[in-house]
Amino acid sequence: MENNFNTIVAHYDEIGLKGKNQQFFVGKLIENIKNIGSNLKVKRGEGKIVTEGTFEKEIIERLRLIPGIANFAPAIACKTDLEKIKQSALQIVNHYKPKTFKIETTRSYKPFELNSLELSREVGAYVLENYKDKLKVDVHNPELLVKVELAKEKTYILGKKEQGVGGLPVGATGKVVCLVSGGIDSPVAAFEVMKRGAKVIFVHFHNQTINKKGVENKIKNIVRHLTQVQGESRLYIIPFADLQKQVITNIPADLRMIVYRRLMFQIAEQIAKKENAKALITGDSLAQVASQTLENMEVIYKATDMLKLAPLIGMNKTEIISEAAKIGTYDISIEPYEDCCSLMIAKHPETRANLEQVEKVEESLNVNDLVDNAIATTEVLVIR
Ligand code: ATP
Ligand code: MG
Repeated sequence: MENNFNTIVAHYDEIGLKGKNQQFFVGKLIENIKNIGSNLKVKRGEGKIVTEGTFEKEIIERLRLIPGIANFAPAIACKTDLEKIKQSALQIVNHYKPKTFKIETTRSYKPFELNSLELSREVGAYVLENYKDKLKVDVHNPELLVKVELAKEKTYILGKKEQGVGGLPVGATGKVVCLVSGGIDSPVAAFEVMKRGAKVIFVHFHNQTINKKGVENKIKNIVRHLTQVQGESRLYIIPFADLQKQVITNIPADLRMIVYRRLMFQIAEQIAKKENAKALITGDSLAQVASQTLENMEVIYKATDMLKLAPLIGMNKTEIISEAAKIGTYDISIEPYEDCCSLMIAKHPETRANLEQVEKVEESLNVNDLVDNAIATTEVLVIR
């Protein structure tokens, strides 16, 4: 049987609770769905977003990654007419060929000739007639649930529902800068804030002396992958080699990592200000590595005033890994490469730094110049 789906119906959950701002959030989500494909017709339905057309696999894959969509399903849109609804439901059952099914109706158009229960029964009976004893109704655990969403003009009959990312549409809650390394954690952190509606600007600190192209490609691949979630990304690549030399020459080994991370924040903050971003995001997870003890994070995070957020702070490595696998960044992240910090790790790094002590050793650096130079030599890429 031919595939007769002519629509995708997407539902949002959290946006529905946004009161007066609902219009704005739904508008953003529509805009983001439109950005997936140039000729998609996307509009607002009653409590849903409706995308018309026929759909390639690629579009479905993108919808799975778009924040704000709680779930979506391919659907047949037809006139609100009992015969048409019955035929559409039958086409959907023909498509999936389940052994058991159930019809469930929601009805925003109350004057319709049948109420929800009656409509479900009538449509179900029609489908069964066409299958004789090869198909059964199972109201508790059907293999296929066909939802009929009836409105005044048009009714949508939905096929199998898929879970979306949920959360809020990217761009609806502001802009942030994410410090992204080539590791597993920071790409997940970026995704978590995108899911809460933030547009992410990526910043990567790059030691050019090692395998320049390899590292750059890896970071670009991570950002390119995450760009499917937010539409378009800016990636700042900041040369870090000179700065590292200065740190190695002037700072005791056990404090170097802390000083690097403080410099990273100071540089990232300049970029955030330029981009009008309101927070710095990291992939920090409490006590996962030496730079992530509470004492060290306090010293590192005090390098600048800007708000810093670490969305993975309470997650275990195994949880972060399974999230990375789910969002598709894991395979890119595990490609081997040396990031600027893995080369510099001291045998016995400080795990309980104190601010005075770190500020004292930093006096031997010209921090402002280092930050300005790094900014001046930054490369900005736009990734679509
Ligand atoms: P990740 O897996 O994200 O690399 P990690 O567990 O290896 O994290 P660290 O290397 O200590 O931890 O880095 C902690 C955080 O600092 C990273 O999650 C990232 O936000 C930031 N960071 C570290 N190195 C870089 C870098 N080269 N460029 C940009 N940000 C970085
Ligand atoms: Mg790392």
